[in-house]
This record gives sequence, C-alpha cells and structure tokens, in this order.
Amino acid sequence: MSAPGDAYREPLDRARLHAQAWLDAVPERHVGPAVDVNRLVPQFARALPEGPSAAGAVVDELAALSEPGLMAMQSGRFFGWVIGGTLPVALAADWLVSAWDQNAGMRFATPATAAIEEAAGGWLLQLLGLPHGSDVGFTTGATMASFVGLTAGRQHLLQRAGWDLDRDGLFGAPRVRVLVGAQRHDVIDLALRYLGLGAPEVVPADAEGRMLPDALAEALDAHPGPSLVCLQAGNLHSGAFDPIGTATAIAHDRDAWVHVDGAFGLWAAVSPRWAEHLEGLAHADSWATDAHKTLNVPYDCGVAIVARPEASRAALGLHTSYLISDDHGPGDPFEKVPELSRRARGIPVWAALRSLGRSGVVELVEGLADAALALADGISAIPHAEVLNDVVFTQVCISFGSDERTRRVTQLLIDDGTAWMSGSQWRDRAVLRISVSNWATDDDDVRRSVDAVARAAARVPHP
Ligand SMILES: *Cc1c(COP(=O)(O)O)cnc(C)c1O
Repeated sequence: MSAPGDAYREPLDRARLHAQAWLDAVPERHVGPAVDVNRLVPQFARALPEGPSAAGAVVDELAALSEPGLMAMQSGRFFGWVIGGTLPVALAADWLVSAWDQNAGMRFATPATAAIEEAAGGWLLQLLGLPHGSDVGFTTGATMASFVGLTAGRQHLLQRAGWDLDRDGLFGAPRVRVLVGAQRHDVIDLALRYLGLGAPEVVPADAEGRMLPDALAEALDAHPGPSLVCLQAGNLHSGAFDPIGTATAIAHDRDAWVHVDGAFGLWAAVSPRWAEHLEGLAHADSWATDAHKTLNVPYDCGVAIVARPEASRAALGLHTSYLISDDHGPGDPFEKVPELSRRARGIPVWAALRSLGRSGVVELVEGLADAALALADGISAIPHAEVLNDVVFTQVCISFGSDERTRRVTQLLIDDGTAWMSGSQWRDRAVLRISVSNWATDDDDVRRSVDAVARAAARVPHP
C-alpha cells in the first residue's frame, strides 16, 4: 500500500511553520550563526535511537537545534562570497519538486519535469542571448556546469584528433592543453582535475583580473595542438569580464574550444548596460552559470550550456538496453549533466522566470549592481577605506589600510551581525569583499550596512 497522504500532513505542517518562522526572523536576525559547528555536533549526534519517533516531533527538534547554527544567507545584508537569496516563488516550486519526488532523468518517464526544464532552458538561452538549439542542463552548481562544458570540449577535441576516448581512455591520448586566465575561479582547476586534464596553463591578466588577449594568442601559438580555452565572465573580486569576443576569436582561429565560466557574471548578458563587456559571448562553445546565485533560486542549481550537443551527449549520455533514450531531438535531461538519477533543479528556475518575466530579470540583475555601486560609494567615504576595483558589476573589494587593520575591521563587522561580508586576499592585499547577489537587498540594507562598516572601522585605530 502507498503511504496515505495523511501521514505527511503533520510533519509538513510543522515544517511550514518552522520555515515561516525562520523567514520572518531573517530580516532582523544577527546575520551570522550564533554557535560553532563543534558545539552543534554533539546535539545532533546523540546515540542513534533504538526505535521510532513521531515525524512531527523530529521536525520540531531539527528546527530548534538548527536555528542558532544557521547563517542568514537570505538577509538583504548578507554579502558573503556570491550567494543569492531565495525568491518566494522559487522556494515554493522547490518544495513541490521534493513533494513530487520525480527522478527526473528521462523524458518519457517524467514528462512534466522534462517539459518544464526544457522550457526553462529555452528561456535562459533567450535571456542570455545564447545560440538557439544549445543543450541546457541543470547541475548542482557552476563547478559541475563548467565540468560539463570542459567535458564536451575534451570530447570534441579528442574526437577531432582521431582518438577514441570512450574506448582507449586518456592514457596515451594526444595532449589537450587547457589555458585559463590568471584569476579564473579555483573550481576550474578542480573540474580539470576531475577530468584528468591536469593543471591548466595560466595566461596573464591585467590589474582587474581580465585575461590579456595578446598573451593568449602567444601561448596558443607556442604549442599548436588541441586546446581548451576557459574564459571568465565575472571575476570574484572585481566583477570584471575577460575580453570574451576578442579571446574567443583568437581561440577559434586556432581551432580551440572556448568555455566561459560565468557563474554570476553571465547574468550581465540580460541587460544592455554591460553589452560592451560581453560582446562576442554567443560565439563561445560552452557556458556555465548559476541560478542559485544571481537568479535567487534555492540551493542548489547550476546551468550548463553547450552549443554543440553532440559533444556533450556523447560524453554524458548512456547507451544501455534498459534506458530508452532519445538519440535525436531535445535529448534526455540526464544526457546534459554528469548524473543519471537527478533532481529536477530546473523547476525553480522556470518558476522564477515565469514570475519575473524578462523585465523582472533585468531589474533584478541591474538592482544588484546598483546596490554594489551604492555600497562602494558609501564605504569609500569612510576614513582610510579604499575601494580597490573598478566596480563594473556586483563585486567590491575594500582595503582599510594595512592588511592587519582590514582583517580586524572584517572580524568586527561580522561580530556586529548587522551585515556579513567576507575577508579575502586580492592583489596581494587583505580585502573586505562584497558580493551583492540577493534580490532582497534594498536601500535601507545598503545604508545600514555602510553604517555597520563605518562602526567597525571606527573601532580600529589607523596608525
Ligand atoms: C561561485 C563561482 C563558481 C563556483 O560555483 P558553484 O555554484 O559554487 O559550484 C565558479 N566560478 C565563479 C566565477 C564563481 O563565482
């Protein structure tokens, strides 16, 4: 017998109440967690119960024990790393994804989830101005989305070199060179490691972290052969974009595959404001972005886009007798990501886009950038505070003088709890880094955050 629907009522009612209590608290709660993980472990890791407990009571216990250890990442004053909040419609859609419990790998088995994800993929291509007919896969994040793009590139390049990767593996294969900018995100190196491609060759970048195109041409010409070029749209520290059009033309002239890591920066393509930075974007071969960052859907959801589906499907598809898959046409969801069983992560994306519409997405992205500019303006008026980057998108890096002083200001700010910004290291200096990626950030959040930074800075004497 199936579990009766009634069995779900009590635990779901409890969960909804706890969720609402959390969401009600987020706007005014201390942004950082109140306890450290080592204090929480024993509370959760008591002896494994000998017998069952009521589901509703377990949900109550889970919520009560967790609350002090949660970070208010949905707060409009959380600016750590690049982590979006949650649009209400996306959170609600995510709950339905769990309730429906579809293993969303195959079109024929779960038609509703496949159709929704295909629609969401098509909308994303339109919004980002990427080639119609590209495959769009929903991954766990941008790391795996870049893994997909680089997998497709590896497949394409080795096939063109006459090497049967599926049969013979990588040992003894022609070398595939990988060229990255000096300030690519570290997860590119991780994806390359997963792929057995080794450490990348580093192309120098300018002060804002943009790859130097002449240096790319020189590096490619030094050793002709199969090459993967990985560009970046949106530098974690400066927000800067590699010269994508120029670099792509250089790479394509030399038959290289071009992948773009645009975990948050790809979203700039929705607005004409950044058109000059993204010129030529559509000519690349694959792209990675995150919906759990700029689009503000719940964790986790990345987006892998490949303009040559035959390369990615050859690498990621499965050809066994018990899986009936489409060889042609739209392709099964699992052929676009590195997993077979999968959650329908594209559904909250569909709901977010359906709810925002094109103008809503543009406003969301431009609003994040406006808030970054306002924060940069406000903070640069604080004595001895210096904004180090040209603020072009959503990222701001600030120094408060010496590294030591910058670190102390960062720690005092975090302890204060009004706003949360992460410490980082950029251009060989300690910095306070701001990433604006939460739809909820408004003018009041900006003002209160600037005040909090000013308070922290005032407590640390400038020598
Ligand atoms: C966040 C980020 C990543 C990693 O994305 P995940 O979703 O955490 O896997 C990669 N590149 C850039 C530029 C990023 O900002």
